[in-house]
Amino acid sequence: MCDTIVALGTATKDGDTLFGKNSDREPDEVQNLDLIERKTHGSNAKVKCTYIEIPQVQETYRTLLCRPFWMFGAEMGINEYGVVIGNEALLTKIKPKKSALTGMDLLRLALERSQTAKDARDVIIQLLEKYGQGGNCGYRAKEYYQNGFIIADKDKAYVLETIGKNWAWKEIEGIWSISNKISIEKDYDTISSGLIQEAVNRGWASSESDFNFSKAYSEPIFTLGSAAKKREQSNRCFLSDNRSSLKTSDFMKMLRRHTDKPDWKPHQGLRLTVCAHAANNLTRYSQTVCSLVTKIGKEKIFSYTTGASNPCLSPYFPIFAPNTKLPQGYVKGESDFNPDVFWWKAEKIHRKAVMNYIDSKELLDQKLDEYEKRMLDFVENQNNILDQQQIDKYFSDVENLYIEWGNNVSKLPNMKCKFAYKKFWSKYNKLNSVN
Ligand SMILES: [Zn+2]
Repeated sequence: MCDTIVALGTATKDGDTLFGKNSDREPDEVQNLDLIERKTHGSNAKVKCTYIEIPQVQETYRTLLCRPFWMFGAEMGINEYGVVIGNEALLTKIKPKKSALTGMDLLRLALERSQTAKDARDVIIQLLEKYGQGGNCGYRAKEYYQNGFIIADKDKAYVLETIGKNWAWKEIEGIWSISNKISIEKDYDTISSGLIQEAVNRGWASSESDFNFSKAYSEPIFTLGSAAKKREQSNRCFLSDNRSSLKTSDFMKMLRRHTDKPDWKPHQGLRLTVCAHAANNLTRYSQTVCSLVTKIGKEKIFSYTTGASNPCLSPYFPIFAPNTKLPQGYVKGESDFNPDVFWWKAEKIHRKAVMNYIDSKELLDQKLDEYEKRMLDFVENQNNILDQQQIDKYFSDVENLYIEWGNNVSKLPNMKCKFAYKKFWSKYNKLNSVN
């Protein structure tokens, strides 16, 4: 499950576009940061996506991806032109089983091929109509799903929701969010002809005038189980309540929310929250494994990621500026625990911290707040563009924060939490050789 949020310049403090996404996937599905440089390709070049190969374009653009380690595509990313996209599984009555392009493949291809949000929207539609969407999108589990996207740049944002080769989109005015449920109802700007026809054929709408995208195609039980509506309402309220004053730190805060209860603990409750914590195999089998926040202005683009799970326990660090690489010392990971990999280093501490959540969080909160405030004040208010030295410095600050916090967390006793919760995580620790 996932949450994606956007606010255009008319709704933000500085007049820049803000975008944020939590990528919720299987708890041990490592998500890496990947920087793909601009590249030219030969006239007959092909690109191998997760399941199928398609013709490559002449030139692909510089792109930062948050990418599950085993696939071609990505959950979210931004390119050198300041086009940002997040995709989400839509919980629908029909699922695309046949191998084709996955939603994550479509996201990456659109970022590599577009200079504006409008271009990216059209690239996804064209690829979708030609190659279709489908194939297993899960890591250990089999997951087949249709896809929704929020696509934004400095001026415009769109929500694009798709079923098979069909689609509908609308231009976003001010603020919007998606949370695994179809968010477009009768309010689409443009729709493919087949989308309404299929709903009528299946008896999910009686006529074109009766057609409501969300009502026709949404699968009610899983939509309820994933708390999609609740998360959507919570995100929309936050965006609406803070309209006109929204800034980067608000988007980071949004992606860290659970419930209104101050004593919330991750082993309690059956439903997913915006900052998603896995806790059982039925309704909370996924969790946030990476978060991205971007601020896209006319002159400058700022990108921040946790590069790790549990955003409520993870500091953001800045990445992706012109002529920069990934932070020095950042190591990508794969399925097995590796003490050199950034994602796994953070994950080992998180798995200890969630067993004594309130005390662990208290040990981190003040230092995390101080660091992020200092980092954001500097990065967004300096006259220069972020350089490699600064990227390396903030990443190093975050690594040091984890080391200090991890030492303190390791001294805490495990609290009394449900046996099933402990068993759930000890299964993953065993599977991943995390001691
Ligand atoms: Zn959390």
